[in-house]
Amino acid sequence: MGYKLNGWNSLVDLFLKAECPLCQRPASTASSQDCLCQDCERQLYRCRLPQPSKFWQPPLPVLAWGEYGGTLKRSLAALKYHNQPQVARLLGRYLAEAWLDSPAIARSLQPLVVVPIPLHASKQKQRGYNQAELITRAFCDRSRLPMAHGLRRDRATEAQFGLTPEARQQNLADAFCVDQRFSKRELSRTETSRTVLLVDDIYTTGTTARSAVQVLRQSGISVGGILAVAKAVQNV
Ligand SMILES: [Zn+2]
Repeated sequence: MGYKLNGWNSLVDLFLKAECPLCQRPASTASSQDCLCQDCERQLYRCRLPQPSKFWQPPLPVLAWGEYGGTLKRSLAALKYHNQPQVARLLGRYLAEAWLDSPAIARSLQPLVVVPIPLHASKQKQRGYNQAELITRAFCDRSRLPMAHGLRRDRATEAQFGLTPEARQQNLADAFCVDQRFSKRELSRTETSRTVLLVDDIYTTGTTARSAVQVLRQSGISVGGILAVAKAVQNV
């Protein structure tokens, strides 16, 4: 990115639009907290899962705020494909609320560090931002957990859509690597080592998450689970 972000205010100043990114009607709220109009926000909130921690179980614990579909699907599309990065703030806050509603999980994993699933540099350049990173920032603002760029994506992967599970896994093989500075810092900590929480926008088959978890664990870094704004319906 050609500019430096100094927290959310700069991001909001840069991107705040007066109209709702989903329906293009004027966003009725003057608050920069909520970028959607009240109707869309109400519809979005209906997508939340009644029990976000239901899937928090081995081998890959998942905590998801909502069910992928409807207004949540449209919100994520606006965020990823229609240059509406401000949507991440609301989604990250919702994800943090789901997390804060599950204090037993948090207690069992302390201390924690939150790592967004990265995009390949070329894709990030094209989009202008990594949506998972923006969601993570909002999540960390609310949850008060520290964020770190622990992973890099060195090889551009083909779009996952339409691939068989086997092809997806192959497509992602070796796509991630652990950031060297991050692993050096984490592995040299003299106090209790931190557990990574991964954050992504959508959890579908879990292939992406599993690949990321695998490379972190191979580097000796402990991973608690993955937090996703949306979880695909077929897994619910
Ligand atoms: Zn709207």
